Amino acid sequence: MKLNKGKKVEKREELYAGKAKSVYYTDDENKLILHYRNDTSAFDGEKIEKLDRKGEINNKFSAFIMQKLEEAGVPTHHEALLSAEETVVKKLDMFPIECVVRNIAAGSICKRLGVEEGIELTPPTFEFFLKSDELHDPMINEYHICAFGWADDEAVEKMKELTFKVNAVLTRLFADAGLLLVDYKLEFGRFQGDIYLGDEFTPDGCRLWDIKTRKKLDKDRFRQGLGGVVEAYEEVARRLGVDLS
Ligand code: ADP
Ligand code: UDP
Repeated sequence: MKLNKGKKVEKREELYAGKAKSVYYTDDENKLILHYRNDTSAFDGEKIEKLDRKGEINNKFSAFIMQKLEEAGVPTHHEALLSAEETVVKKLDMFPIECVVRNIAAGSICKRLGVEEGIELTPPTFEFFLKSDELHDPMINEYHICAFGWADDEAVEKMKELTFKVNAVLTRLFADAGLLLVDYKLEFGRFQGDIYLGDEFTPDGCRLWDIKTRKKLDKDRFRQGLGGVVEAYEEVARRLGVDLS
Protein backbone atom coordinates (compact mmCIF):
# COMPACT_ATOMS: atom_id res chain seq x y z
CA MET A 1 0.00 0.00 0.00
CA LYS A 2 1.41 3.40 -1.01
CA LEU A 3 0.90 5.91 1.79
CA ASN A 4 1.01 9.68 1.87
CA LYS A 5 4.67 10.58 1.41
CA GLY A 6 4.19 14.31 1.97
CA LYS A 7 3.64 16.14 5.22
CA LYS A 8 1.72 13.87 7.57
CA VAL A 9 -1.74 15.23 8.33
CA GLU A 10 -2.72 15.04 11.99
CA LYS A 11 -6.09 13.73 13.07
CA ARG A 12 -8.19 16.00 15.30
CA GLU A 13 -11.71 15.66 16.75
CA GLU A 14 -14.51 13.78 15.05
CA LEU A 15 -16.74 15.92 12.84
CA TYR A 16 -19.36 13.31 11.96
CA ALA A 17 -20.01 9.59 12.36
CA GLY A 18 -22.02 8.27 9.43
CA LYS A 19 -23.39 4.79 8.85
CA ALA A 20 -20.19 3.44 7.29
CA LYS A 21 -17.53 6.12 7.73
CA SER A 22 -16.34 8.50 10.40
CA VAL A 23 -15.10 11.93 9.42
CA TYR A 24 -12.35 13.75 11.35
CA TYR A 25 -11.01 17.28 11.31
CA THR A 26 -7.26 17.58 10.81
CA ASP A 27 -4.59 20.16 11.64
CA ASP A 28 -5.23 21.52 8.12
CA GLU A 29 -8.56 23.39 7.92
CA ASN A 30 -8.92 22.41 4.25
CA LYS A 31 -8.57 18.68 4.83
CA LEU A 32 -10.50 15.90 6.53
CA ILE A 33 -9.75 12.27 7.28
CA LEU A 34 -12.33 9.68 6.22
CA HIS A 35 -12.20 6.52 8.29
CA TYR A 36 -13.87 3.58 6.54
CA ARG A 37 -15.36 1.34 9.23
CA ASN A 38 -16.45 -2.29 8.92
CA ASP A 39 -20.07 -1.28 9.56
CA THR A 40 -22.40 -2.16 6.73
CA SER A 41 -25.92 -0.83 6.62
CA ALA A 42 -28.95 -1.19 4.38
CA PHE A 43 -32.55 0.00 4.29
CA ASP A 44 -31.67 3.42 5.81
CA GLY A 45 -29.78 1.88 8.69
CA GLU A 46 -32.40 -0.74 9.61
CA LYS A 47 -30.05 -3.63 8.85
CA ILE A 48 -26.54 -3.19 10.29
CA GLU A 49 -23.62 -5.61 10.58
CA LYS A 50 -19.87 -5.41 11.01
CA LEU A 51 -18.06 -7.18 8.18
CA ASP A 52 -14.44 -7.96 8.85
CA ARG A 53 -11.98 -6.16 6.50
CA LYS A 54 -14.68 -4.26 4.62
CA GLY A 55 -13.36 -0.89 5.86
CA GLU A 56 -9.89 -1.57 4.55
CA ILE A 57 -11.07 -2.93 1.20
CA ASN A 58 -13.42 -0.01 0.62
CA ASN A 59 -10.80 2.56 1.61
CA LYS A 60 -8.27 1.20 -0.87
CA PHE A 61 -10.95 0.57 -3.51
CA SER A 62 -12.25 4.14 -3.39
CA ALA A 63 -8.73 5.61 -3.47
CA PHE A 64 -7.99 3.53 -6.58
CA ILE A 65 -11.17 4.63 -8.37
CA MET A 66 -10.76 8.31 -7.40
CA GLN A 67 -7.23 8.26 -8.83
CA LYS A 68 -8.51 6.76 -12.10
CA LEU A 69 -11.19 9.44 -12.26
CA GLU A 70 -8.66 12.21 -11.59
CA GLU A 71 -6.50 10.88 -14.43
CA ALA A 72 -9.57 11.07 -16.68
CA GLY A 73 -10.20 14.71 -15.71
CA VAL A 74 -12.86 14.36 -12.99
CA PRO A 75 -11.92 16.57 -10.03
CA THR A 76 -12.15 14.52 -6.82
CA HIS A 77 -11.60 15.19 -3.11
CA HIS A 78 -8.95 12.44 -2.88
CA GLU A 79 -5.60 13.56 -1.48
CA ALA A 80 -3.77 10.50 -0.10
CA LEU A 81 -4.15 7.17 1.62
CA LEU A 82 -3.20 7.68 5.26
CA SER A 83 -3.54 4.14 6.63
CA ALA A 84 -5.32 0.90 5.77
CA GLU A 85 -8.72 2.33 6.70
CA GLU A 86 -8.15 6.09 6.37
CA THR A 87 -7.84 8.59 3.53
CA VAL A 88 -7.07 12.31 3.56
CA VAL A 89 -9.54 14.31 1.48
CA LYS A 90 -10.34 17.92 0.69
CA LYS A 91 -12.93 19.28 3.10
CA LEU A 92 -15.92 19.87 0.84
CA ASP A 93 -19.10 21.78 1.48
CA MET A 94 -21.33 18.86 0.49
CA PHE A 95 -24.59 19.23 -1.45
CA PRO A 96 -27.30 17.23 0.40
CA ILE A 97 -27.96 15.37 -2.83
CA GLU A 98 -27.23 11.94 -4.32
CA CYS A 99 -26.70 11.58 -8.08
CA VAL A 100 -27.61 8.15 -9.46
CA VAL A 101 -26.94 6.85 -12.96
CA ARG A 102 -28.36 3.50 -14.07
CA ASN A 103 -27.15 1.46 -17.01
CA ILE A 104 -29.31 -1.55 -16.13
CA ALA A 105 -32.54 -1.61 -14.11
CA ALA A 106 -32.10 -2.87 -10.52
CA GLY A 107 -33.05 -1.84 -7.00
CA SER A 108 -35.48 0.99 -6.36
CA ILE A 109 -36.30 1.72 -10.03
CA CYS A 110 -37.71 -1.80 -10.39
CA LYS A 111 -40.06 -1.29 -7.44
CA ARG A 112 -40.97 2.26 -8.38
CA LEU A 113 -41.75 1.57 -12.05
CA GLY A 114 -42.63 -2.11 -11.89
CA VAL A 115 -39.87 -3.03 -14.33
CA GLU A 116 -37.87 -6.22 -14.36
CA GLU A 117 -34.34 -6.33 -12.97
CA GLY A 118 -31.73 -6.63 -15.73
CA ILE A 119 -33.31 -4.51 -18.45
CA GLU A 120 -30.68 -2.46 -20.25
CA LEU A 121 -31.39 1.26 -20.06
CA THR A 122 -30.62 3.11 -23.29
CA PRO A 123 -29.83 5.87 -22.73
CA PRO A 124 -28.70 5.44 -19.12
CA THR A 125 -30.98 7.24 -16.66
CA PHE A 126 -30.11 9.98 -14.20
CA GLU A 127 -31.89 10.59 -10.89
CA PHE A 128 -31.39 12.96 -7.96
CA PHE A 129 -32.23 11.91 -4.40
CA LEU A 130 -32.28 14.03 -1.25
CA LYS A 131 -29.84 12.76 1.37
CA SER A 132 -32.19 12.22 4.30
CA ASP A 133 -32.45 8.98 6.27
CA GLU A 134 -35.62 10.22 8.07
CA LEU A 135 -37.36 10.80 4.74
CA HIS A 136 -35.83 7.64 3.20
CA ASP A 137 -33.86 9.60 0.57
CA PRO A 138 -36.80 10.76 -1.58
CA MET A 139 -36.34 11.23 -5.29
CA ILE A 140 -36.20 14.93 -6.25
CA ASN A 141 -35.70 16.93 -9.45
CA GLU A 142 -33.86 20.06 -10.50
CA TYR A 143 -36.80 22.30 -9.58
CA HIS A 144 -36.81 21.02 -5.99
CA ILE A 145 -33.05 21.50 -5.77
CA CYS A 146 -33.24 25.11 -6.94
CA ALA A 147 -36.45 26.03 -5.10
CA PHE A 148 -35.13 24.76 -1.77
CA GLY A 149 -31.64 26.13 -2.38
CA TRP A 150 -29.83 22.78 -2.11
CA ALA A 151 -27.69 23.79 -5.12
CA ASP A 152 -27.84 26.38 -7.91
CA ASP A 153 -28.49 25.73 -11.63
CA GLU A 154 -24.83 25.81 -12.52
CA ALA A 155 -23.95 23.26 -9.83
CA VAL A 156 -26.81 21.01 -10.94
CA GLU A 157 -25.53 21.03 -14.52
CA LYS A 158 -21.96 20.37 -13.37
CA MET A 159 -23.02 17.44 -11.17
CA LYS A 160 -24.92 15.89 -14.08
CA GLU A 161 -22.03 16.41 -16.47
CA LEU A 162 -19.47 14.91 -14.06
CA THR A 163 -21.73 11.98 -13.13
CA PHE A 164 -22.05 11.00 -16.80
CA LYS A 165 -18.33 11.49 -17.33
CA VAL A 166 -17.76 9.06 -14.46
CA ASN A 167 -20.08 6.62 -16.26
CA ALA A 168 -18.00 6.78 -19.44
CA VAL A 169 -14.76 6.18 -17.54
CA LEU A 170 -15.98 3.49 -15.17
CA THR A 171 -18.21 1.40 -17.46
CA ARG A 172 -15.07 0.82 -19.54
CA LEU A 173 -12.78 0.23 -16.53
CA PHE A 174 -15.18 -2.35 -15.08
CA ALA A 175 -15.90 -3.94 -18.48
CA ASP A 176 -12.17 -4.52 -18.91
CA ALA A 177 -12.33 -6.43 -15.60
CA GLY A 178 -15.28 -8.53 -16.79
CA LEU A 179 -17.84 -6.51 -14.81
CA LEU A 180 -21.06 -4.68 -15.62
CA LEU A 181 -21.52 -1.34 -13.88
CA VAL A 182 -25.27 -1.59 -13.27
CA ASP A 183 -25.77 1.66 -11.32
CA TYR A 184 -24.02 3.92 -8.82
CA LYS A 185 -24.49 6.86 -6.50
CA LEU A 186 -22.21 9.90 -6.34
CA GLU A 187 -22.04 12.85 -3.96
CA PHE A 188 -20.47 16.20 -4.77
CA GLY A 189 -19.35 19.23 -2.81
CA ARG A 190 -17.73 22.62 -3.22
CA PHE A 191 -14.15 23.52 -2.39
CA GLN A 192 -12.86 27.06 -2.91
CA GLY A 193 -15.62 27.73 -5.46
CA ASP A 194 -15.18 24.59 -7.57
CA ILE A 195 -17.19 21.37 -7.61
CA TYR A 196 -15.49 18.12 -6.67
CA LEU A 197 -16.57 14.51 -6.44
CA GLY A 198 -16.68 13.58 -2.75
CA ASP A 199 -17.60 10.66 -0.52
CA GLU A 200 -16.69 7.24 -1.93
CA PHE A 201 -16.90 4.93 -4.91
CA THR A 202 -17.07 1.36 -3.60
CA PRO A 203 -19.29 -1.72 -3.98
CA ASP A 204 -21.30 -0.26 -1.07
CA GLY A 205 -22.59 2.48 -3.37
CA CYS A 206 -22.83 0.83 -6.76
CA ARG A 207 -24.04 -2.38 -8.37
CA LEU A 208 -21.57 -4.61 -10.17
CA TRP A 209 -22.40 -7.87 -11.91
CA ASP A 210 -20.12 -10.42 -13.51
CA ILE A 211 -20.49 -9.88 -17.29
CA LYS A 212 -20.94 -13.57 -18.10
CA THR A 213 -22.84 -15.00 -15.14
CA ARG A 214 -24.48 -11.77 -13.87
CA LYS A 215 -23.45 -12.80 -10.35
CA LYS A 216 -23.94 -9.88 -7.94
CA LEU A 217 -20.64 -8.59 -6.56
CA ASP A 218 -21.83 -5.58 -4.56
CA LYS A 219 -23.88 -4.58 -1.51
CA ASP A 220 -26.94 -6.39 -2.85
CA ARG A 221 -25.25 -9.51 -1.43
CA PHE A 222 -25.74 -7.90 1.99
CA ARG A 223 -29.18 -6.41 1.29
CA GLN A 224 -30.48 -9.73 -0.02
CA GLY A 225 -28.63 -11.94 2.50
CA LEU A 226 -26.69 -13.75 -0.24
CA GLY A 227 -23.51 -14.08 1.85
CA GLY A 228 -19.91 -13.70 0.66
CA VAL A 229 -20.12 -9.91 0.78
CA VAL A 230 -16.49 -9.10 1.59
CA GLU A 231 -15.29 -11.92 -0.68
CA ALA A 232 -17.22 -10.33 -3.56
CA TYR A 233 -15.73 -6.86 -2.87
CA GLU A 234 -12.29 -8.44 -2.75
CA GLU A 235 -12.88 -10.25 -6.02
CA VAL A 236 -13.83 -6.99 -7.74
CA ALA A 237 -10.78 -5.24 -6.25
CA ARG A 238 -8.51 -8.07 -7.40
CA ARG A 239 -9.91 -8.00 -10.94
CA LEU A 240 -9.35 -4.24 -11.15
CA GLY A 241 -5.81 -4.51 -9.81
CA VAL A 242 -6.40 -2.60 -6.56
CA ASP A 243 -3.41 -2.97 -4.22
CA LEU A 244 -4.88 -4.58 -1.09
CA SER A 245 -1.51 -5.21 0.61
P1 ADP B 1 -23.94 8.58 5.72
O1 ADP B 1 -23.78 10.03 6.12
O2 ADP B 1 -24.87 8.46 4.53
O3 ADP B 1 -24.30 7.68 6.84
P2 ADP B 1 -21.12 7.77 5.61
O4 ADP B 1 -21.11 6.87 6.78
O5 ADP B 1 -20.37 7.33 4.40
O6 ADP B 1 -22.57 8.12 5.06
O7 ADP B 1 -20.55 9.16 6.12
C1 ADP B 1 -19.67 9.94 5.43
C2 ADP B 1 -20.18 11.37 5.40
O8 ADP B 1 -19.13 12.24 5.01
C3 ADP B 1 -21.30 11.58 4.39
O9 ADP B 1 -22.33 12.32 4.99
C4 ADP B 1 -20.65 12.38 3.26
O10 ADP B 1 -21.57 13.25 2.63
C5 ADP B 1 -19.56 13.13 3.99
N1 ADP B 1 -18.39 13.44 3.16
C6 ADP B 1 -17.82 12.61 2.26
N2 ADP B 1 -16.75 13.20 1.68
C7 ADP B 1 -16.65 14.44 2.23
C8 ADP B 1 -15.75 15.54 2.04
N3 ADP B 1 -14.74 15.47 1.18
N4 ADP B 1 -15.95 16.68 2.76
C9 ADP B 1 -16.99 16.74 3.65
N5 ADP B 1 -17.85 15.73 3.88
C10 ADP B 1 -17.69 14.59 3.18
N1 UDP C 1 -27.16 4.08 -3.25
C1 UDP C 1 -26.29 4.46 -2.25
N2 UDP C 1 -26.77 5.11 -1.15
C2 UDP C 1 -28.08 5.40 -1.00
C3 UDP C 1 -28.98 4.99 -2.03
C4 UDP C 1 -28.49 4.35 -3.13
O1 UDP C 1 -25.09 4.22 -2.35
O2 UDP C 1 -28.47 5.99 0.01
C5 UDP C 1 -26.65 3.39 -4.45
C6 UDP C 1 -27.05 1.91 -4.46
O3 UDP C 1 -26.04 1.11 -3.88
C7 UDP C 1 -27.18 1.64 -5.95
C8 UDP C 1 -27.62 2.99 -6.55
O4 UDP C 1 -27.25 3.96 -5.59
O5 UDP C 1 -25.93 1.29 -6.50
C9 UDP C 1 -29.10 3.05 -6.82
O6 UDP C 1 -29.80 2.70 -5.65
P1 UDP C 1 -31.38 2.47 -5.66
O7 UDP C 1 -32.06 3.76 -5.96
O8 UDP C 1 -31.68 1.33 -6.56
O9 UDP C 1 -31.75 2.15 -4.17
P2 UDP C 1 -31.57 0.81 -3.32
O10 UDP C 1 -32.50 -0.21 -3.88
O11 UDP C 1 -30.14 0.43 -3.44
O12 UDP C 1 -31.93 1.28 -1.94
